[in-house]
Amino acid sequence: MRASRPPSSVVVRGGLLVTQDPKRRVLRGDLRVEGGRIVGVGDVGKASADEEVDASGCAVVPGFINAHAHVAMNLLRGVADDRELAGFLETLFAVDARRTEADVEAGARAGIAEMLLSGTTSFLDLYYFEDAVARAVESLGIRGFLGWAVLDPELTTQKGVPVENARAFLARWKGHALVSPLVAPQGVYVCGKETWLKARDIAEREKVLLHYHLAETRREVHEHQAKTGRRPVVWLNEIGVLGTRSVAAHCVWLTGEEIELLAHHEVGVAHCPSSNLKLASGGVAPVVELRAAGATVGLGTDSVASNNSLSMLREMHIAGLVQKNQRWDAKVLSAQELLDLATIDGARLLDRADDLGSLEVGKQADFSLVRLDHPTLFPARPEAIVSHLAYAASDEAIDSVYVGGSPVVRHRALVHGDWNEIRMAGEMAAEGLWSVRPK
Ligand SMILES: [Zn+2]
Repeated sequence: MRASRPPSSVVVRGGLLVTQDPKRRVLRGDLRVEGGRIVGVGDVGKASADEEVDASGCAVVPGFINAHAHVAMNLLRGVADDRELAGFLETLFAVDARRTEADVEAGARAGIAEMLLSGTTSFLDLYYFEDAVARAVESLGIRGFLGWAVLDPELTTQKGVPVENARAFLARWKGHALVSPLVAPQGVYVCGKETWLKARDIAEREKVLLHYHLAETRREVHEHQAKTGRRPVVWLNEIGVLGTRSVAAHCVWLTGEEIELLAHHEVGVAHCPSSNLKLASGGVAPVVELRAAGATVGLGTDSVASNNSLSMLREMHIAGLVQKNQRWDAKVLSAQELLDLATIDGARLLDRADDLGSLEVGKQADFSLVRLDHPTLFPARPEAIVSHLAYAASDEAIDSVYVGGSPVVRHRALVHGDWNEIRMAGEMAAEGLWSVRPK
């Protein structure tokens, strides 16, 4: 378990602050943290603190917010590459039937290590055995928004009724400092109306987010239309789900009407370009239209079975290239907008914009120190720092990471865990899962 320490004061001196504040200021200055929150940005005076950090060779960047992941699947990187979605799912279902709570925890620890070492400080997850993920979150010190996967009882490998499991998970973890439990209906292809409505009712009553996959493939849309006569977004609106605070992952196949519906109901969209490209979803999510309609869009990696990385730096880069190329318009989704998706817009998506996503007084001190002497940030000019982060920076440039003012990565080493131990436990857990992989 992570040692709980009293909140301390930290001063980060002389860094290039990429604030992501409303003016998107980039300035040379200091950051002062008291009790886990930012109390000064820029000139914070000379008063000392429990921890003094020299950031003169670094950019100080808000922690990235990964808006869609299945972190426990880190044991399955490369398990189902280069397959159609049907073959990909067949492999995953075979492996899934063998999963245990212990191997979910081992996978989650490996995934969280990868996230922290690439500058991610919050993530939105969808899986089951989420207690194991929550323990990994607590022990390694990241912020986890953990959605218990809900599907129709006859379609699940979970013991018991998924929606009841979700309710119990919420009761166990609500109010935790780092773990925010929530309800996650997997998608319209495994959740009937009754399951959706039960999940919605729990989310409304407990005032937590709903998180789900939506309109990922044409097949999903066509099959749902054949079954119900409605496209998925229209159907969810008709049964009364869209009005609940929610985050929908993918949203590749949308009509203009559906874009309007998502924006009108303030449904956040987690854009996952790498996963969509690798699984050949065929289309490109209408990120520009969604944003123009007023919807909040964040950025997610999805799992490493379909990405195959949890790097938000890599995801920003790909998101930008895909939108520009598909539209024959180099101006869309600028470097600044890409960084917004990965930080402040991710915070909006989680309904935590007052608390996360930027370096501003009053917010949680979740940030990374990014080395300006790394070759991928050369030339390290302040006017190019946002561009370097969106298009060029390597994960290896991320030197140290703080969550709530506490260091969780220092000079590329985890503070609350040992990568070699995490790796060896994960390799052992992966053994049994890989052995059942259909050839
Ligand atoms: Zn997913």
